[in-house]
Amino acid sequence: MADPHTKAALSRRKLLTAGSMAAGLAMLADVSHSQDNPAANVEDRGTNIQITSLKGFRVGTKAYIKIETNRQITGWGEVTGLEPMVAVALAQSLFELLDGENPTRVEYLWQKLYRSHRDMRGGPFMTHVISAIDMALWDIAGKAWGLPVYRLLGGPVRDKVRYYSHAKAHKVGTGGPHPHSGDPRDIEPLVKNIKQTRERVGPDGTVMFDAHCAIPPAMLIQLAAAIEPYDILFLEEPAVPGNIEVFKRLKESIKIPLATGERDRTIWGMIPYLQERCIDILQPDCAHTGGISQMHKIATLAEAYMVPLAPHCTCSELGVSASLQAAFVVPFLVIHEMYLDGHLMPPGVANKTFKVLDDGHVTAPEGPGLGVHVDESQFEKVNADPKRKFVWPKLTLPDGSVRDY
Ligand SMILES: [Mg+2]
Repeated sequence: MADPHTKAALSRRKLLTAGSMAAGLAMLADVSHSQDNPAANVEDRGTNIQITSLKGFRVGTKAYIKIETNRQITGWGEVTGLEPMVAVALAQSLFELLDGENPTRVEYLWQKLYRSHRDMRGGPFMTHVISAIDMALWDIAGKAWGLPVYRLLGGPVRDKVRYYSHAKAHKVGTGGPHPHSGDPRDIEPLVKNIKQTRERVGPDGTVMFDAHCAIPPAMLIQLAAAIEPYDILFLEEPAVPGNIEVFKRLKESIKIPLATGERDRTIWGMIPYLQERCIDILQPDCAHTGGISQMHKIATLAEAYMVPLAPHCTCSELGVSASLQAAFVVPFLVIHEMYLDGHLMPPGVANKTFKVLDDGHVTAPEGPGLGVHVDESQFEKVNADPKRKFVWPKLTLPDGSVRDY
């Protein structure tokens, strides 16, 4: 049987733009000329490519980052979970650190950005923006070499990636905040919803439950015991990120596999869950945690602890494609989140090349780089829609006190 990735490589050639084709061929010529000189083979053959500009765009509730080079190769990345105009301003400021740099030195530039402000090292706003820049750098590197990013990361370890949400795989949410309560009136509707979802997807379907950090720990322990018969794949976000002592307490009392990580950033944010053995499934978000570069490292850390990944993703098809590039090289992966129904971004803005299969999986993105095509001409139309404007959540419990979710 023909290797599907070989077929993808063939169709990829058709997708090369004239600019990236010329640049890629120039680099390949360098390779053949250096065959008789082993020392030349260890040099960075992409040394002539340089970053010339960075542009940021608000696109609905997201920000898209576009990095241009002197080789007419362009890379795209997506910022999510952050006020988009703040993201655009921060990305444009960070261009000072990228101007004239070689975009194929992805790890070096990640370090340069993350460690740029003395010992601040990240924080959510910075790391979300670095995530998008990292995606754009990998996009450029892939296009420069004429390869999908997953090839540069070691090649695919699977033929397809299992995903949700679809008719046979559904994640149930909390339906809002839950003040501390042991009342059946408060717990029974959640149990009923999970039970009905299990009945709807059938015994061969997948049910997940996202507690959104919105259910107090004692109440969550009660709820978890009540939903045990419905065989859910994981119970997500049982507690506020980073509160390791609460996670340890919940892990001792809840039999359902616990998952978290969407609001944790970098290897340094993830490792306490692993070291304290208080999580069963890790859910890094490529657009929150530091981009493809950090996803790849987090997967390796988790693999050492036999903890699989279920990547969180509420990006448009741009960020989903970036996350999939990493997911295809992760050896230990359960399922990948994605929403392709247009509620996060209208169709036509970022255009995926991966295919959605009938069996609940997606194929790898095709073409060089991230394998996604961004249509800038759509941005204005998206921004004209008042429903697609970022608004700060204004969240309170019924008694007026503040809540996170
Ligand atoms: Mg969640």
